Amino acid sequence: MPETHLLVVSGDRREAADGTTRDVIAPATGAPFATVAQAGPADVEAAVAAAHGAFAEGQGAWPRTSATERGRVLARVAALLRERADAVAELEATGAGHPIGDARWEVEAAARTFEYYAGFANKHLGSTIPVMDGGIALTLREPVGVCALIVPWNFPLLIASWKVAPALACGNPIILKPASLTPLTALVLGDLLVEAGVPAEAVHVLAGPGAQLGDLLVGDPRVAKVGFTGETATGAHILRQSADTITRVTLELGGKSASVVFADADVERAAAATPMAVFGNAGQDCCARSRILVERPAYDAFVAAFAAATDRVVVGEPLDPATEMGPMVSAGQRQTSLDYLDIGSGEGARRVCGGEVLDRPGFYLSPAVVADVDNSMRIAREEIFGPVASVIPFDDEDDAVRIANDSDYGLSGSLWTGSATRAVRVAKRLRTGSLSVNSHSSVRVETPFGGMKRSGLGRELGPAAMDHYSEIRTVHFAED
Ligand code: NAD
Repeated sequence: MPETHLLVVSGDRREAADGTTRDVIAPATGAPFATVAQAGPADVEAAVAAAHGAFAEGQGAWPRTSATERGRVLARVAALLRERADAVAELEATGAGHPIGDARWEVEAAARTFEYYAGFANKHLGSTIPVMDGGIALTLREPVGVCALIVPWNFPLLIASWKVAPALACGNPIILKPASLTPLTALVLGDLLVEAGVPAEAVHVLAGPGAQLGDLLVGDPRVAKVGFTGETATGAHILRQSADTITRVTLELGGKSASVVFADADVERAAAATPMAVFGNAGQDCCARSRILVERPAYDAFVAAFAAATDRVVVGEPLDPATEMGPMVSAGQRQTSLDYLDIGSGEGARRVCGGEVLDRPGFYLSPAVVADVDNSMRIAREEIFGPVASVIPFDDEDDAVRIANDSDYGLSGSLWTGSATRAVRVAKRLRTGSLSVNSHSSVRVETPFGGMKRSGLGRELGPAAMDHYSEIRTVHFAED
C-alpha cells in the first residue's frame, strides 16, 4: 500500500479538505509508489487566508522578525537539509528519476541556497539619498507579502529552494505549489521550514492540479507575488492572469540553448563535456545545450567524439550510484522526445546514435545525437525537454552568432574557443541570460539566473532575487 503524503497548511500536515488524493509514479518502474493529497479551492483559501493573516500588512510574526533572526532560521533549514540529505536525496531520486549522485548534489545545492540567503537577510540594505530640497531621504526594503511559488517537476527541491529561500529571507509568507508529478520533496521542505523556526502560518505547501491551483493563487488579490518556473505557455498565461491584480511576477521559462564550438577550441574536451550538458537529468533541464553549433573544420571530428562520449553515458536505475542518466519523468515526456526524433528524421536530420526505448519497465530512453541539423528545423527551434541533441554546422563567427541568436529563447549557453579575444567578442553578442566560456555550468547561487526573450522575466539567485521578493519604499524627513 503506497504511503500517503499530506498537504502542508499553516505548517501542519493535513488531508485535502475534500479528501482527494493522487498516485505518484516512480519514473524507474512506471508504478505508483506514493499517494499525495490534492489541494482544491478550500485548501487554497485556507492557505491564502492564513498566509495573508501572517503577513498582516508587514506587521505579522515573520515580517516583524529581525532580519538577523530570519537569517538564523534559514541557516537552520540548510543544516536540516544536510542532516536529512540521504533520505531527501533518495526521495528525489525515486520520485523524479534523478541519478542518486545528482540528487545528493541537488540537496546540497538547496542547502547552499538557504545558507546564501541566510547570510543575505540582514545585508539587503536600503540607502540614503541626497535630495535637492534638503532633509534626509532614505529607502526601506520591506517584504512584499504572500508569495505563491509555482515550480516544475525537473528539479523539484532545488528550484523550490531558489524561490523559498529569498522569499523567506525578505520576510514573506510562502505558498509553495510543486508540480503534480513530483510533489514529495517540496512537502518535506515545508516540514523542515517549520522545524527550523519559520512561523507555521507562513508555511504552506499545496500539491494539486496546476491549472486549478495556479489560477486560484495567481488571481487572488491577497497574493502579492508569483514566482513561477515552467513552460513558456504557462508563464504567458500567468502573466495575463496577474494583470487585473497587478501582481508582481517573475518567470523562469523554457530554453533552446546553444553550445558554440569553434575550431580553435579544445574540441576533444568540448566533445567530452557535451553529453552531460544536454543529457543531464535526461535532457529535462531548462539550460540543456540542446543545440550544438560546431565550426565546419571541426565538425566531423566533434560529431564522432560527441557520439562516442554519448555511447558511454551510463543509463540506469536512479538508485544505482554508477548511473549517469536515469529515466525520463513520464511516459508522455518520453513520447514527446520520440515524436521529435521522427520529426527530425522527416526534416532530413541524421540520427547518429541513441533514441532507443530501453526494454525494461520505467520511462527510459537512450540519449540521442542528431547531426546535420539546420536551425530552421523544428528540432532546432522547439524545446524538446528530453535527451535529444541537435548538432548544427556553422561557417564563421558571424554565422555562429546569427544561428545561436536565431531562437525564441535566450536562457543559457556555452562558448568553446581557445581565443580570449574571440570569447569576449562573441560573449558580448550572444543574447542569453547566462553564458559559460569553456564550460557547461550555468547556475551558481551567487549569480543572477534567468532568461532573455521568451525564456523569462526577472532573475533568480544572487542578489537579484532579494529585489524581486521585496518592496523598496522611500521616506523623506523634512528639515524645516
Ligand atoms: P509546466 O508549466 O507544465 O508546470 C510548471 C508548474 O506550473 C507546475 O507546478 C504546474 O502544476 C503549474 N501549472 C500548470 N498550469 C498552471 C496554470 N495555468 N497556472 C499556474 N500554474 C500552473 O512546466 P513543467 O512541465 O513542470 O516544467 C518544464 C518546463 O519548465 C520546461 O519548459 C522548462 O524549460 C521549464 N523550466 C525552466 C527553468 C528556468 O529556470 N528557466 C527551470 C526548470 C524548468
